[in-house]
Amino acid sequence: MALLPILRWPDPRLSARCAAISADEDVSALVADMLETMYDAPGRGLAAPQVGVLKRLFVMDPGWKEGTPDPYICINPVLSDFSDELKSGPEGCLSIPGITTEISRAASVTLAWTDLNGITRQDRLTGFAAICAQHEYDHLDGIVTFDRLSGEARALAESSYQP
Ligand code: ZN
Repeated sequence: MALLPILRWPDPRLSARCAAISADEDVSALVADMLETMYDAPGRGLAAPQVGVLKRLFVMDPGWKEGTPDPYICINPVLSDFSDELKSGPEGCLSIPGITTEISRAASVTLAWTDLNGITRQDRLTGFAAICAQHEYDHLDGIVTFDRLSGEARALAESSYQP
C-alpha cells in the first residue's frame, strides 16, 4: 500500500468526466491505496480522479471518525431516487483544502455500486452519508464544490482559496 498524492483544484483532471471500469479490470491495489490515503488525509471520502485516475470509483467512510472504520468501495456507482427534501451543510474537499462550502443536496438518495468482488450492491443513504456520496459522485463527473455554488458565492469561496 502507498499514500497517493491528492490533486488540488484547479488541476484539470478534477474537471474531467471519468470513464467506466470494465468488469475484468482489477482495481484492488488502487482501492487499497485510496483507502490508506483517505484515512491518512484525514478525510471521509476520496474519488479516483482526486489521485489522478480518471475512472468511476470512489471510497467513502462517512462515520469512521466517530467509530470503527467501515468503508464503502464503490465501482461504477449510480445515484437515483433523490429525495425532494434538500439539506445543506458545510462540505470540505481534500482537493480544495482549507475551504468549506454550504451546498444544498438531496437529504436522501439511493446508491448502487459494484464492490471489489464484482457484486452489485445498493443502499439507501441519509444524513451525512447521503451528502458524502453525492459529493464523491460529483468528482466522477468533473464537478467540485465550487461548481455547485452560484456566481457570487463561488467568487467569494474561490477568492479565499489558496492552492
Ligand atoms: Zn471532494
